[in-house]
Amino acid sequence: MRNISRRGLLKGLFAASVVVGFDLTTRTWVTHASGGGGDFSLLPPLDGSLVTDPASLAAVADDFGHMIHRTPVAVLRPGSVEDVVKLVRFARKHGIKVASRGKGHTAFGQSQVDAGVVVDMGTLNQIHSIEADRAVVDAGVVWRNLLLATTPVGLTPPVLTDYTRLTVGGTLSVGGVSGRSYQYGAQVDNVLELQVVTGEGELLTCSESADRKLFEATLAGLGLCAIIVRATIRLIQAKERAQTLRVFYPDAPAMLADLRVLINEERFDHTRGMSVLTPGGFVFFIEGTSFYTSAGELPADPLQGLHAIPGSEQFEDMTYFEYTDLVVKLIDALEAAGLGGLPHPWVDLFVADSKIDAFASQTIAALDPSLFLPGSLILFYPFRKSRLARPMLRVPDEEIFFLFDILRTIPPEPAIVDAVLAENRNLYEQNRELGGKFYTISAVQMNARDWKNHFQNFWGSLSSEKSQHDPDNVLGHGTGVFA
Ligand SMILES: Cc1cc2nc3c(=O)[nH]c(=O)nc-3n(C[C@H](O)[C@H](O)[C@H](O)COP(=O)(O)OP(=O)(O)OC[C@H]3O[C@@H](n4cnc5c(N)ncnc54)[C@H](O)[C@@H]3O)c2cc1C
Repeated sequence: MRNISRRGLLKGLFAASVVVGFDLTTRTWVTHASGGGGDFSLLPPLDGSLVTDPASLAAVADDFGHMIHRTPVAVLRPGSVEDVVKLVRFARKHGIKVASRGKGHTAFGQSQVDAGVVVDMGTLNQIHSIEADRAVVDAGVVWRNLLLATTPVGLTPPVLTDYTRLTVGGTLSVGGVSGRSYQYGAQVDNVLELQVVTGEGELLTCSESADRKLFEATLAGLGLCAIIVRATIRLIQAKERAQTLRVFYPDAPAMLADLRVLINEERFDHTRGMSVLTPGGFVFFIEGTSFYTSAGELPADPLQGLHAIPGSEQFEDMTYFEYTDLVVKLIDALEAAGLGGLPHPWVDLFVADSKIDAFASQTIAALDPSLFLPGSLILFYPFRKSRLARPMLRVPDEEIFFLFDILRTIPPEPAIVDAVLAENRNLYEQNRELGGKFYTISAVQMNARDWKNHFQNFWGSLSSEKSQHDPDNVLGHGTGVFA
């Protein structure tokens, strides 16, 4: 639905910079400020707006990583799905590159485009319906807002990212994983249908039964073939409360051994390993969370068979929504402490079970503690490959594997950033040699050959979907997959 007053407000704010046309001779956008004299074709009328003012461009020339800055020539704030269609068709006709952006929380320029147009999906943010087993939402809806609507009626998406102030379109374009993924797969495994705008400017609906190839190329698809504009997300019953057991270990292998026990038994609903830096060095712990409504649903003996440090156990209990909101509170606190604007060269690697003990131990031993500013941490999410179905989410070839995330906040010095990025690249290569994969949200410099290697046997299908649905390579330039 059009928000007339908002649109009016935007027009007022950006009166000097709202685009009225595209100059075919100079290949620049014509705004109210620059005047309309010139050989330009008028943009089709939009329900939203296309803006070119420096503040709007600067805002989307940055992301959570604060390391890559690519400045577009305009930002589309779509007022409707049709706006996305019009913009993509227009861009295709005039050879303009387009990137879609959710909240810009990928760390390495994935949502940015140099001299193109960024589609800021945040204005497409309606929850259209919530039923017992599904919700239909715009791609710009933030997961937290969906939860605020579903938890009062006792429902939840099965898998949520730790941080829920991310858009549906943004996490479905990368995968979306958590400590529930070992049971429920990734967020992309819990999508029933997508509405997308392809690089040809076609509005299409796809699912497992309708245009499956496009569906598969779009989920975890980095916006390469199509922009997700609407998604039907699976919902399940939400429990009322969350009880977390935290137990500590002397090192990563001891922690990983117990993680394996826990996932084999499916003892907890949400299970992960973590490591944080303390004055005494890195400490390792497991957090196992049970979602429950009545106490009888909790594990009878949550510590049974575990080999944690005796007496190290801690318990926390809160409402389900409070639990899903823990990282929102953490990120708010880090922002308030002035750490939000520092570089975040996060690296996230899917490591095979048979390799993780040695790889994680060696990697952590080699980390420079001085580059581990407050808020930095290491995560280990367990997975079962048989619970994952989407081919664009590339993972190792073993039934059990782990997502090993090194989430660092570092000082804003170019030499340090370069050194950490070189370290990330080295870890990526080491893990690749061990049969591992990388999660595409990572700050890892990739070239065209790396990407081909990354997608391996799906590269042919992806390339064919790309040539069919985005033949002029309009979309997805932030990643360099089809550079
Ligand atoms: C604090 C924090 C915690 C996180 N926790 C987790 C976690 O627990 N699990 C996890 O899996 N990830 C996690 N992430 C990573 C997060 O899932 C990704 O960075 C996600 O892409 C961010 O969503 P976004 O809306 O900011 O997307 P953006 O960063 O804006 O976009 C991500 C990519 O998707 C593309 N894209 C965006 N919208 C669309 C669309 N509608 N259609 C097509 N392509 C689109 C962009 O072009 C870009 O390539 C976390 C990130 C942060 C910063």
